[in-house]
Amino acid sequence: MSEEAVCIFCEIAAERGDASLVRCEKRATAFMDIHPMVPGHTLVIPNSHSDGVSGVNEEDGGAVFSLARRVATALKASDIRCEGTNLIIADGRVAGQTIFHTHMHVIPRYRGDDFPMRLDPALRHAPTRETLDEQASFIAELLATGSVD
Ligand code: 5GP
Ligand code: ZN
Repeated sequence: MSEEAVCIFCEIAAERGDASLVRCEKRATAFMDIHPMVPGHTLVIPNSHSDGVSGVNEEDGGAVFSLARRVATALKASDIRCEGTNLIIADGRVAGQTIFHTHMHVIPRYRGDDFPMRLDPALRHAPTRETLDEQASFIAELLATGSVD
């Protein structure tokens, strides 16, 4: 995003935004999604701005997952209906991202909820082992050469 534009999630992380805060930590902040898919839908952000996951450093990524994990555990123990959770990051417009400050959704799930996400077995592909091995090597090579950090 441009230098001048104000990022609403940066504002929330700085406790200047209008948000229902759950927890503010050194590296990550949790707050309620303003338009929840399910009651209890919470967002967890790194306090440092990055547009998407590739811009999140190791420490911030760890802090986001740590806080999201605890939010998920708290939701299950709370009065909010929550039998399980989906932890989701939309990374890039093509993946459905609409706010370009990296964030993890913590979405409570319960039997009979109307949240549409499911990794539908009917939609799964059936690649050959050769194809899977080839794809694994594309990714592995980039990781092994240190060209991705
Ligand atoms: P995305 O589609 O980028 O994965 O999700 C963005 C999320 O941010 C949406 O679920 C949306 O409801 C939420 N959101 C957008 N603007 C605000 C806001 O100003 N405050 C809060 N708390 N949530 C927001
Ligand atoms: Zn931001």
